[in-house]
Amino acid sequence: MILPFTLHRPDSVESAASLLDRYGGEAKILAGGSELILLLKMGLASYGHLVDIKKIPGLDFLDYDPADKKLRIGALVTHRALELSSIVQEHFPLVRDMERQLANVRIRNAGTLAANLCFAEPKADPGTLLLAYGASIKARNAKRERSLSVDDFFVDYYKTALDPDEILTEVQIPKLPDNFRGAYLRFCPGERPTVTAAVLVRGNGSVADEIRIALGCVGPKPVRAREVEEDLKGKGVDEIFDTAMEAGEKATLLSDPLEDLWGSVEYKRHIVKVLVGRGLRQLCQRKERTRG
Ligand SMILES: Cc1cc2nc3c(=O)[nH]c(=O)nc-3n(C[C@H](O)[C@H](O)[C@H](O)COP(=O)(O)OP(=O)(O)OC[C@H]3O[C@@H](n4cnc5c(N)ncnc54)[C@H](O)[C@@H]3O)c2cc1C
Repeated sequence: MILPFTLHRPDSVESAASLLDRYGGEAKILAGGSELILLLKMGLASYGHLVDIKKIPGLDFLDYDPADKKLRIGALVTHRALELSSIVQEHFPLVRDMERQLANVRIRNAGTLAANLCFAEPKADPGTLLLAYGASIKARNAKRERSLSVDDFFVDYYKTALDPDEILTEVQIPKLPDNFRGAYLRFCPGERPTVTAAVLVRGNGSVADEIRIALGCVGPKPVRAREVEEDLKGKGVDEIFDTAMEAGEKATLLSDPLEDLWGSVEYKRHIVKVLVGRGLRQLCQRKERTRG
């Protein structure tokens, strides 16, 4: 049973921020509601005030600026809108690949990307890929606006760097230069992913000038496997292909999964190895190169 609450429907970000300021920890933002309403129904949380931002005009923008090559995603943009966007398809195909695999159409229709990040559920898809992309977010409260990298945004299980009175207003994803190629991989035997990995490789020819590897669901927050990235940087793609599973094995040392219904720690580490190794092989095989 959901405990009673007052529903506020502000018509501007400023009014929403003032409500958060006024009611403090008693208030929570409501977007698509796919996570929050579930929590309330299960009695895992209760709030005296819900601040529904769905009626705020101008928060559903999805723009690509060719000048600074950034995708700007408003707080109300749903997973489904990203999945179907021709801009995303053209300039951010990996984002589309990720979105079309997330949850199911019903959740993707209701759920927003911004809220997915704000909820900071470790078993999620977007954080992993956005970390590899070097994405950032904009947040504001009644007094100021600030920007944060996705790296700094995630803090712990279900915890972000947002203050309780802050609203995430925009997600920004920089386009990868043309000489990047990438792969997004996930293992999802249940409703939510058990392991996610994003692998990006930069290089025009036979050498990988830069590698980015992000892992998700195997710790409190998504992480970059920086030691593995450094090991692989500057190596030939043939060598990376041949030693991909060893690199995957090293990545497991940077993961810190919890045992749950979906597998033991060892099992999840094994999946990390397989996904990272598979991603590197896919991107470093000579003939067929994946788009980035
Ligand atoms: C059955 C099921 C399967 C799922 N499968 C997956 C999956 O495979 N992969 C995956 O990544 N996710 C999955 N999800 C999670 C889903 O992606 C999220 O539910 C969705 O993105 C959340 O968006 P929402 O708008 O519905 O959030 P809401 O429920 O409205 O909000 C979630 C949280 O974010 C806060 N919030 C929302 N917007 C803002 C804002 N702008 N500023 C500050 N705080 C804000 C809310 O206060 C709340 O705490 C699944 C969920 C369900 C129920």
